[in-house]
Amino acid sequence: MSGVSEIAARWDAVAARVAESARAAGRDPADVQILAAVKTQTPAAISAALAAGCRVIGQNRVQELTATMPDVRAAWDGPVEVHLIGSLQTNKVNAALREVDCVQSVDRWELAEKLARGAQRRDRHLDVFVQVNASGEETKGGVEPEEAVEFAARVAGLDGLRLRGLMTIGANSSDDGVVRASLERMGELRDAVVGSGAPGTADARELSMGMSGDLDIAIECGSTMVRIGTAIFGPR
Ligand SMILES: *Cc1c(COP(=O)(O)O)cnc(C)c1O
Repeated sequence: MSGVSEIAARWDAVAARVAESARAAGRDPADVQILAAVKTQTPAAISAALAAGCRVIGQNRVQELTATMPDVRAAWDGPVEVHLIGSLQTNKVNAALREVDCVQSVDRWELAEKLARGAQRRDRHLDVFVQVNASGEETKGGVEPEEAVEFAARVAGLDGLRLRGLMTIGANSSDDGVVRASLERMGELRDAVVGSGAPGTADARELSMGMSGDLDIAIECGSTMVRIGTAIFGPR
């Protein structure tokens, strides 16, 4: 784990790399947000990323969010959007709704309905992404690509939820071609969701994909939000 003092420099380097990848792909760097993936990081490290310019953080587990956010908010009173990027058990939905602005890991109907009901009860809306298992790896969460468009359209229709787009974890492979194939598919699925005409899908243009190891390929494939841990905070 790197020291808090190194985090600002690492953040700047990641931001520069993202901007460079966007330009190389003929895209506007402003169209790619950086989410800091903060699992295992201390509140001090998370606050350092926020002070360096980060505005979106993603945590994998609700329990870790509950444990770290009070200290993060005490150290940082500026704007921050909090996303859940790990799998969510239905019995943690209420705890999640207290802490997060967005759940990126919506992967089953029961979860979508429960989030929608909880958001309505709180008289708010919750941003969501539908997670897609684009690589087909058994260890990865997410709906199958074949089911993604229909499922996303149903989720978008739930009162209380605002569908922002699709999320995936790229193939775990050293072969760039394999990674690229899994991520290219996501742009096609997103276009099909947006073009479906289903209520709530017209603005669901976002693609959350790309991590420290594959962010350049992900941006080439249309990512609008990369989720970066190691390149900001050092090895876990
Ligand atoms: C940890 C994690 C990341 C970031 O991974 P790095 O390789 O450390 O950049 C992104 N997305 C999810 C869902 C993660 O769990």
